[in-house]
Amino acid sequence: MRIDLHTHSNRSDGTDTPTELVENAKAAGLDVVALTDHDTTVGWDEAEVAAERIGIRLVKGIEISSSIDHKSVHLLGYDFDPTDEPLLKELGKVLDGRNGRVPKIVAAFERIGIDITEEEIVAKSGGAEATGRPHVADVLIDKGVVADRGEAFDNYLSPGKPGYVGRYAAATEEAIRLIKSAGGKAVLAHPWSRGSDSVLTAERIAELVELGLDGLEVDHADHTDDDRESLLKIAGDLDLVVTGSSDYHGTGKGPEFGLGTSTTHPDQLERLLGT
Ligand code: AMP
Ligand code: ZN
Ligand code: FE
Ligand code: FE
Repeated sequence: MRIDLHTHSNRSDGTDTPTELVENAKAAGLDVVALTDHDTTVGWDEAEVAAERIGIRLVKGIEISSSIDHKSVHLLGYDFDPTDEPLLKELGKVLDGRNGRVPKIVAAFERIGIDITEEEIVAKSGGAEATGRPHVADVLIDKGVVADRGEAFDNYLSPGKPGYVGRYAAATEEAIRLIKSAGGKAVLAHPWSRGSDSVLTAERIAELVELGLDGLEVDHADHTDDDRESLLKIAGDLDLVVTGSSDYHGTGKGPEFGLGTSTTHPDQLERLLGT
């Protein structure tokens, strides 16, 4: 059984519709796929219809943009009530922060003499619920400023680069509490990828377990072999579920993030979701 627990559709910064994502997951030989768009669940219903039609199990999820000590930490939530009011209120703040950042990004690029408009960014996002830096990257690609999303992040959009603008993120502790009180499961996404490695020490992860953290995404393309070995040990010490996933974004990221490139063991899925 092949299980991929972290993917994005074009409801956030992936390039597949939720239907295409599920179809591609089936074609990639997956038995289970989780849709985990950034800060929104709007893709769930469409994905569910496609999954039932095609015959693949869909796990309903989200990747919440959170932070600890001003460092970005991504939290995966699974199988929670998407109508839970406190959770929706917090997600609303994150989505407002994403949309409110767009004119500030335009102004930042204006300062370095690169002409992009709000309309172009919104058009690139295709009406996605969560606008993100990858959509800005796609505008820069169209204009010939960069060759791909990676170059856009390296030269303009990463923290410290001239096109970077911060935005509201939920406190990681609060995001865990909200997912748990909405009946879901909480897993730290790519805990040691850029940004989050300095704040997610073993001690800090142990504190998050006290708040209800259920698991760590150990197998992820951003992690080195050493990262995986160390994270596996931490997960073992804290009795956490271990997941692996692709973080697929359609054509928005390279082949190393292809569907099913990293997977979760069926026993771990059962520990996480009880089925
Ligand atoms: P934002 O949601 O605006 O904070 O942008 C973060 C998202 O951009 C991440 O979740 C990734 O999908 C994407 N991203 C971050 N770094 C890179 C990179 N170097 N190349 C391509 N995509 C990236
Ligand atoms: Zn993304
Ligand atoms: Fe992420
Ligand atoms: Fe992701």
